Amino acid sequence: MSFDIDKIRNDFPVLGEKVYNKQLIYFDNGATTQKPSPVIEIINKYHSKLNSSIHRGVHFLSDQATNDYEDARKKVAEFINAEKSSEIIFTSGSTGSINMLAFSFGEKFVSEGDEIIITEMEHHANIVPWQMLCERKKAKLKIIPFNDEGILQTESLSTLITEKTKLVSVIHISNTLGTINPIKNIIEIAHRQSIPVMIDAAQSIQHLSVDVQELDCDFLVFSGHKAYGPTGIGILYGKEKWLENLPPYQGGGDMVDIVTFENTTYNEVPFKFEAGTTNYIGAIGMAEALRYIESIGLENIGKYETELMHYATKKLKETGIVTIYGNAPEKASILSFLIDGVHMADAGMMFDKLGIAVRVGTHCAQTVMQHFNIDGTVRASMSMYNTKEEIDYLCQTIHQVKAMLS
Ligand code: PMP
Repeated sequence: MSFDIDKIRNDFPVLGEKVYNKQLIYFDNGATTQKPSPVIEIINKYHSKLNSSIHRGVHFLSDQATNDYEDARKKVAEFINAEKSSEIIFTSGSTGSINMLAFSFGEKFVSEGDEIIITEMEHHANIVPWQMLCERKKAKLKIIPFNDEGILQTESLSTLITEKTKLVSVIHISNTLGTINPIKNIIEIAHRQSIPVMIDAAQSIQHLSVDVQELDCDFLVFSGHKAYGPTGIGILYGKEKWLENLPPYQGGGDMVDIVTFENTTYNEVPFKFEAGTTNYIGAIGMAEALRYIESIGLENIGKYETELMHYATKKLKETGIVTIYGNAPEKASILSFLIDGVHMADAGMMFDKLGIAVRVGTHCAQTVMQHFNIDGTVRASMSMYNTKEEIDYLCQTIHQVKAMLS
């Protein structure tokens, strides 16, 4: 299908909304994306016609819900080219997935003195769970640095790895700098020493093709709501050989085989990691969002968003009053910047009043701000439904903001 921006925008009802009587311009896609009609419709349909608990009932509605939930698992597996759908665990999102892995992997494989390697540009979700694990186990967190352009110093990985290293966990696309990290190279370096690698694909799954078999990553996470799906749902992908060997994270219904007061045996993978009533409507909604992405074509989306990013970078630079943080050559459509002499919070408030939704602050990446010795940035993160006209309006308002606030 060709890239029809008008049709795409029509698919997202919220884009027609006004805020403060101004046409909404939504540039906060790194935080969460808007939802297209097919996703909204399937969620509504489930709540109004088909709601029922999965894996438990013997009745029509439960059968239907179970089938659709398991089809959603197949859709996710196909989308990331997992070898088997049982390698997909549904979670509450990227944060839930990383916490699950840090607990489960940590319980089994991490001991005192061991090391976990992450990068300096991680989202807090890929820092804090590992820090908590390191505190529990008296292990050590090591950091791959980035330079002032926002480029990861991948060459330092070989020297950071020791015989104590148990896992490397890396953000694919930085939610703050926009940097696209060379994860295939990182995985190859780690695998040479037989060290497994987890990829945080929260910001990449909706922008570029992610093939877990081609990458050969051991684990991968993403969230539904950042890929045009609902909130409260995401996945942890794990190679079967790992998932079979990891202990469950939470106990409860559905994750068990036989329960007695003396002992419990667990269900098979992936169910042993899905305790309790899962967010099955979320999973079905997320699968619909992936189908929507496929209907547009990830390659088309990526190409369009890259064009928007280059255009926005040029236009922001042309204002002459903006500093951009993150200038890596391989970059996604995420732009962090500050207007000279204007505090980010004041700028954010002004943008808001003019109808533009941006994010201001540290973007859950305080270590990135510490690198640049700044409090935070304004972040405009663009998606397939944004336009050059919206970017022009942003740049015009930057001059207005500067005139009023500096
Ligand atoms: N990793 C990255 C790179 C992110 O951008 C985010 C969300 N901003 C997360 C992890 C956490 O995602 P969630 O809040 O959906 O769990």
